[in-house]
Amino acid sequence: MRAWVVHKPGPVADGPLRLVERPVPEPGPGQLLIRVLCCGVCRTDLHLAEGDLPPKAPDVTPGHEVVGEVVAAAPGTVRFRTGDRVGVAWLAGTDGACRFCRQGLENLCPNSIYTGWDIQGGYAEYLVAADAYVYQLPAGFTDPQLAPLLCAGIIGYRALHRAEAPPGGTLGIWGFGGSAHLVAQIAIAQGVTVHVFTRSQADRELALGLGAASAQDSFDPTPEPLNSAILFAPVGTLVPPALAALDRGGTLAVAGIYLTDIPPLNYEKHLFQERNLRSVTSNTRGDGEEFLRLAQRLRIEVDAHTYPFDRAQQALADLEADRFSGAAVLTL
Ligand SMILES: [Zn+2]
Ligand SMILES: [Zn+2]
Repeated sequence: MRAWVVHKPGPVADGPLRLVERPVPEPGPGQLLIRVLCCGVCRTDLHLAEGDLPPKAPDVTPGHEVVGEVVAAAPGTVRFRTGDRVGVAWLAGTDGACRFCRQGLENLCPNSIYTGWDIQGGYAEYLVAADAYVYQLPAGFTDPQLAPLLCAGIIGYRALHRAEAPPGGTLGIWGFGGSAHLVAQIAIAQGVTVHVFTRSQADRELALGLGAASAQDSFDPTPEPLNSAILFAPVGTLVPPALAALDRGGTLAVAGIYLTDIPPLNYEKHLFQERNLRSVTSNTRGDGEEFLRLAQRLRIEVDAHTYPFDRAQQALADLEADRFSGAAVLTL
């Protein structure tokens, strides 16, 4: 089969991915062999390709927003069988036994493994995944529309929880790409007023079209004090202005797995009056199932831009350069 691998991490302009031939993997106990129909392109893939995230396996295949079809189910699988269409996401496995797993915080499991980082991901014709960590797909979406729901949607949904936007309250969103455009719709459906801050004119237009109350440049002042904020852009210099935009008692959640350094904060201006600064780490399977149910019920709109499988490198370059709004998806 054909698979893209991160051979030597480096600037995306230098083409850090390499297309290789490798054998179709064998599913082990409790695993499914899945034929990939399409795979979303997440910012995490870009961080991995460029070396911001250290690769956990040599020549790892990125991709953790996989829509596919089960072609073999090994002994020990109970949820899915051959012929089922399934979604493979970022969280690929946990130990199920540590103090975090036992408290329902499997996203914090120190022994968790991730698709397209620890194990081979979906920029390939086939992959294997644990039956227990694979999702049933919601109805009413095309395959390319489903892919971004599986990470951008699920992690964004956890970020929305972490930001604790109250119904009828206000939420600021910094950065408006694959994740933000999905989460904004959930927040708006919950009665939250959403203000968007992004340098991209096209993204500002997308935000307003989806029902955001306002859209402005990243460092512009907020139209009103915010109860909550989510930082999706991996840009540490946006943390102080996002904190300064919070109302008393407000919460800023940093959604990404990677963030450039945060400049010094001023206690009075950025944190006092019980403002909270939080990170978001991965997700639980419960977050994923809840989000996918909501996505179907609310019929959220997915702005998906398809690229043929051969053009994976171009999709990453376009993501880095903000050349599309919404989310990119590789189709096989
Ligand atoms: Zn654990
Ligand atoms: Zn992702």
